[in-house]
Amino acid sequence: MSEKREAYRDPEVVRKMTRLVAEGAVMLAEACPVDGLPLFRLKSGDVVCPVHGRVWVVSSEAEAEEVEIDFVLRRVEHYAARRVYELLNNEDVGELLRWLSVLEAAERVRSLRDSRVKKPEEASRAEKGGGGKG
Ligand SMILES: [Zn+2]
Repeated sequence: MSEKREAYRDPEVVRKMTRLVAEGAVMLAEACPVDGLPLFRLKSGDVVCPVHGRVWVVSSEAEAEEVEIDFVLRRVEHYAARRVYELLNNEDVGELLRWLSVLEAAERVRSLRDSRVKKPEEASRAEKGGGGKG
């Protein structure tokens, strides 16, 4: 509790917040869950905490899970790619193919998700349009 008050009183933090506003960032109603400082949306669309830098604003548990799933998929891709690289010096083609298919599957799942998960602005625009599919 007192930690949140401290952040507000820190002159360095106040200076950062002032600079963000001067640069055209918009103060949001949402607060950083860690220090309770207001979040700012930059002109680029990124949302930042004056202390922690870039953050992902998640409005629901489901959205938090989406971010986590994306993170896991990237890890799988990274690991599979590394295994493939290691197996290049190996005669075991079967093993190489297995990891290649893991890599391919992870990439496919992620690109499918990318096309499904829309940015917040696009999503709200789509809602107004009312175009339903399915
Ligand atoms: Zn923060």
